[in-house]
Amino acid sequence: MMTAPRLEIDLNKIGHNARTLVERLGKRGISVTGVTKATLGSAEIAATLLRAGVNALGDSRIENIESMRLGQQSAPMTLIRSPMLSQAQRVVRSANVSCNTEIEVIRRLSIEAQQAECNHGVVLMVELGDLREGIMPDDLLDCVRETLSLPNIDFKGIGTNLACRSGVAPDARNMAMLTELAEQIETTFDLKIGTVSGGNSANLEWALSGAEIGRINNLRLGEAILLGCETLHRQPLDGLYTDAITLVAEVIEAKIKPTLPSGQIAQNAFGETAVVADRGQVTQAILAIGRQDIDPDGLQAPPGIAVMGASSDHLILESDRFELAVGAEVVFQLNYSALVRAMTSPFVSKVIATASGDNSCGAV
Ligand SMILES: *Cc1c(COP(=O)(O)O)cnc(C)c1O
Repeated sequence: MMTAPRLEIDLNKIGHNARTLVERLGKRGISVTGVTKATLGSAEIAATLLRAGVNALGDSRIENIESMRLGQQSAPMTLIRSPMLSQAQRVVRSANVSCNTEIEVIRRLSIEAQQAECNHGVVLMVELGDLREGIMPDDLLDCVRETLSLPNIDFKGIGTNLACRSGVAPDARNMAMLTELAEQIETTFDLKIGTVSGGNSANLEWALSGAEIGRINNLRLGEAILLGCETLHRQPLDGLYTDAITLVAEVIEAKIKPTLPSGQIAQNAFGETAVVADRGQVTQAILAIGRQDIDPDGLQAPPGIAVMGASSDHLILESDRFELAVGAEVVFQLNYSALVRAMTSPFVSKVIATASGDNSCGAV
């Protein structure tokens, strides 16, 4: 019997998703950086993405890049979060390129790259409205100027990141601004910019809509590859698998219970006060997984089963159709938040599914 809880990872489906996006965007002159940060630096997933034709791997954590580097000596890898000053040495040793917003950090990368006798690529991230990371557009030229002057630093280009903090959608206006900034840099410094990275999975709607692409020639895609959806409305993308990664958990209690708690109601384990309607008796099951391992709001149960709540180690389901016996397994689809937590939980094993077809939804 297989261990539970577990993530079942279908490399064929992930490869298909990545290849499909690489092809569709390739027709528009856009390359794909395969973002692995939700996979905890999985060597198998990294290899799958490279085989599918991504031009580089991108990750937000240097630890993940270091572990992928063990299996991929020569693959281009980009650190997509601004490096910590305290990790600059590790960054130049394992990542070929990093995304940056602070000149102080780039100066340190330059010193570390000189010491390591290597060159390090720098993409400057620009703030275009989402108010997460990014250099203010008015400060960009000064930052480029100093970046160009630093020894052992290669100025690779510019990028932006939208739809993460504030949900600002990539559109004709902000993408045209990025193009304009790229051209301004080229004119000012008489150079040709290599990378103009327009964003993440939230950019797909814009990139595939037939819109004017301008100078954008790269997207950094994670969720769209792993979960098969775009991220502005979380709609499935045409022709992509949405079940490349599923979560399996095991029933440890199955009972008929009342819906109404009895006793005086105070705070629960997470400081919430439950407000419950009386729906009579229900079939309740408890699975051996909890908030420590997943985001319960990010789980999609099979039809006929509903996720009712979770504490640290217990996930509570109700089922009107299924007999959820002790020992039964339930298969869930996950959103990004649930996926990231499950990947980082040491209590959830990661199983590379070999044959597809054995991971259909439902209680087994
Ligand atoms: C996470 C991240 C991405 C990938 O985002 P997805 O929504 O998973 O495609 C791209 N760029 C940056 C800077 C990120 O932090």
